Amino acid sequence: MAEAGVPPGEQHRQAPGRRALLQFAAAAGGASLLSACSRSASAPAAGGTAAVASRDSSGGTAMSAAAQAASGPPKAADWAALARDLSGPLIRPGESGYTTAKELFDTRFDSLRPAGIAYCRNPHDVATSLAFVRKYGLPVAARCGGHSYAGWSSTSGLIVDVTRMAGVSVSGGNPKTATVGAGTRLIDFYNGLAAHGRAVPGGSCPTVGISGLTLGGGIGVVGRAYGLTCDNVTSLQIVTADGQIRTANAKTNSDLFWACRGGGGGNFGVVTSFTFTTHPAGDICLFFLSWPWSQAARVIAGWQSWAPHAPDQLWSNLHLAAAPGGSIPSIQVGGTYLGTVSEAAAQLEKLYAAVGSHPSSPFLESTTWLHAMLVEAGCASLTVKECHLPTQTAGGQLSRASEYAKSDFFTRPLSGHGIGTLLAGVENLQRVSGAPGGSGGIAFDALGGAVNRVAPGATAFVHRNALFGAQYTTTWPVGSASAEVARQHAWQQSFWQSMRPYASGQAYQNYIDPSLANWRQAYYGANYTRLTQVKAAYDPHRLFSFPQAV
Ligand SMILES: Cc1cc2nc3c(=O)[nH]c(=O)nc-3n(C[C@H](O)[C@H](O)[C@H](O)COP(=O)(O)OP(=O)(O)OC[C@H]3O[C@@H](n4cnc5c(N)ncnc54)[C@H](O)[C@@H]3O)c2cc1C
Repeated sequence: MAEAGVPPGEQHRQAPGRRALLQFAAAAGGASLLSACSRSASAPAAGGTAAVASRDSSGGTAMSAAAQAASGPPKAADWAALARDLSGPLIRPGESGYTTAKELFDTRFDSLRPAGIAYCRNPHDVATSLAFVRKYGLPVAARCGGHSYAGWSSTSGLIVDVTRMAGVSVSGGNPKTATVGAGTRLIDFYNGLAAHGRAVPGGSCPTVGISGLTLGGGIGVVGRAYGLTCDNVTSLQIVTADGQIRTANAKTNSDLFWACRGGGGGNFGVVTSFTFTTHPAGDICLFFLSWPWSQAARVIAGWQSWAPHAPDQLWSNLHLAAAPGGSIPSIQVGGTYLGTVSEAAAQLEKLYAAVGSHPSSPFLESTTWLHAMLVEAGCASLTVKECHLPTQTAGGQLSRASEYAKSDFFTRPLSGHGIGTLLAGVENLQRVSGAPGGSGGIAFDALGGAVNRVAPGATAFVHRNALFGAQYTTTWPVGSASAEVARQHAWQQSFWQSMRPYASGQAYQNYIDPSLANWRQAYYGANYTRLTQVKAAYDPHRLFSFPQAV
């Protein structure tokens, strides 16, 4: 991910992300604003093979030999039969394209070696793949954008890849709805919707998949106005562990529908399409503001008194960043406003008043919806086609990256002590002997607005009372020494630990975190019991399993 301080011309070479808005925009020409990705209800019981679960090396679940319908693992001829039964390609070790096909977004997971990757072209391919893993007791993982922070969209068994089921179609009606293939990547989601003048709130990283994002919530730049991505789902199609292709919405399989809006990817089946309600995609204001680090405490205090309480049209985040062994940290506010530049400027004046000073580098402009999404994605100077990995589109200019992430929600403003702890946490990275070119920091996303008007139990996404969320990250160039990376990781864990007295104890299920001990409560709170009931109804034998599976 591109970090603050990366020259604008360099930024598009790095994988972008939601910290795009955290990056300060070089005001000249408004171009290169930049970027960084390199930032359980009654139901039909699922059938299938009775199984005894055991962990496989990647955290997936393998059925015991006694539970298998077939004796022993699949032989070459069995795989060949699967390949014939699928309309999409099946890639196996040793075959052309395997090295790329097995990759996730994060290079940390490059050593994982799935036994096969099934590129499913339709729900029947998914059902066929699930029948195969049931028959042979193989671990299975669904994969969309491959951005799982824990690598849990890979497995030693079969990856069920949904990216060949991609695309956006918009239907009439009021409001207009969009049916979106489960394999659609975010930048293609925005592009397909914008072609019809429509929008659905989502995240910033262009290569994140709509499936993982939506199933775990979906926090994005217009969330305070339009809610989470999952709040905009009206229906979905999903293949459950028994191989049945089901519709889930408010009337049909409503318990499954509830669970798929925030219950987390990989838990309840393989989604093959989503239907969303849509919003008008008019022009939108973008702003990027920075202050000297000496003003950081005042900026934090001012931002937290302003951002969660602003009108719904205004969304913003606050990013504090540093480099191991580096110079002075940076503090930036970025955001969007659904309205005119003068209305946005009036809102920003309230922030300046709360901080007690104007930013040293202010930037505010109005632009088209799609361009705004490209800017957020770190693709301000790229076409939609270029705003992909080279393995995704010819001419794709983005790169894969490595990152550790942890998260928090905050339901109370930070006290003076809390702000002091925060600043010390960021500054401590300067004293870490980390990877040259590495970075780290914390990004706060303003919440409130439409996100918090949904009751905590109305969907599986329970975090409806926070003022803001936060993500603690650290990144390093691919190929960095493991000891340097380990020291950055230790810094991040210690930083997160230091903030325990101030955070709510909740964590974002989409920033899935293998080191989180109390993940059930942190991700799902009071909704966890109902999620386990949905799991028991639709996946009683835990075909879909990973270390933090419901
Ligand atoms: C660089 C970066 C930027 C990010 N930016 C944002 C952001 O702006 N806002 C935000 O809210 N989050 C953001 N995230 C977090 C992101 O939402 C999650 O990592 C999400 O799970 C990724 O989805 P995916 O489809 O890309 O990943 P995958 O790794 O493919 O999938 C994630 C999980 O979902 C499961 N899954 C995938 N497809 C399906 C399917 N079709 N049916 C059922 N289960 C499935 C997988 O098995 C896995 O458990 C970001 C993550 C990264 C790494």
